[in-house]
Amino acid sequence: MRQVTLETLRDRFAPSDRMPLVFMGHGSPMNAIEETDYTRAWTRLGQSLPRPRAILVVSAHWMTRGSTLVDVSELPRTIHDFGNFPAELFAQQYPAPGAPELAREVTALLASHHAQEDDTWGLDHGAWAVLKFLYPEADLPVFQVSIDMSRDLDHQLSIGRTLSQLRDRGVLILGSGNVVHNLRAMRRGGQPHDFALEFDALFADRLEDRDFAALSDREGLGPLLNMAHPSLDHYLPALTIAGASDARDALTFMTDSIDLASVSMRSFVFHSD
Ligand code: ZN
Repeated sequence: MRQVTLETLRDRFAPSDRMPLVFMGHGSPMNAIEETDYTRAWTRLGQSLPRPRAILVVSAHWMTRGSTLVDVSELPRTIHDFGNFPAELFAQQYPAPGAPELAREVTALLASHHAQEDDTWGLDHGAWAVLKFLYPEADLPVFQVSIDMSRDLDHQLSIGRTLSQLRDRGVLILGSGNVVHNLRAMRRGGQPHDFALEFDALFADRLEDRDFAALSDREGLGPLLNMAHPSLDHYLPALTIAGASDARDALTFMTDSIDLASVSMRSFVFHSD
């Protein structure tokens, strides 16, 4: 795995008026309670990021159909949305406050994207399992925005474009999913599948070229997309983050390795140069 030192990261993400954009490849929920190369890198990333006014999370694990929901709760609950894991994982809490006022504003901002308020969700493990490393104090307001599974890929790019204005207001937009996520092909300790390496590399190249049209072109991506993502939930948050970036942003990749043969742990940050 390529290592980026803390000093390098601090240099790159020096405080500016504009918040960076972060995509986290979250992988197995077990990362939340294990010290791994990934979680060590996430901690380093957290130490190098500016302190935002609030955090907006688009997680692979909040899927809706026909609308984009925005959580307006005062105190989002910690959701343990997984089964067959140790009790220690179910005991995890991330007691950050919500951001109801800002969340309502975001609902209005996304009105043309069929956004609606919601006060039932909270923070799923796509959110808290990475936030606990990025901002361990859990003292910053956080709220989630769902992914609309009934729309095409470019819809999520468009959501990102609309949300991007929040960056100038101290809001950190965090996407959490995986660039490759095929649970059926998962193998513990297995070598990466060719399709996983291929899609991961293609994604990184297109992202580097800012060719977001290619990343949202189902036909162009062809069967490789279906291999990498039998379901698109873990892919969509990466498109939200891409959509919120613009020509002024530099791009830094982190933790670019394949875990469990078919899960890309690649994370990336768009930031001021
Ligand atoms: Zn997940």
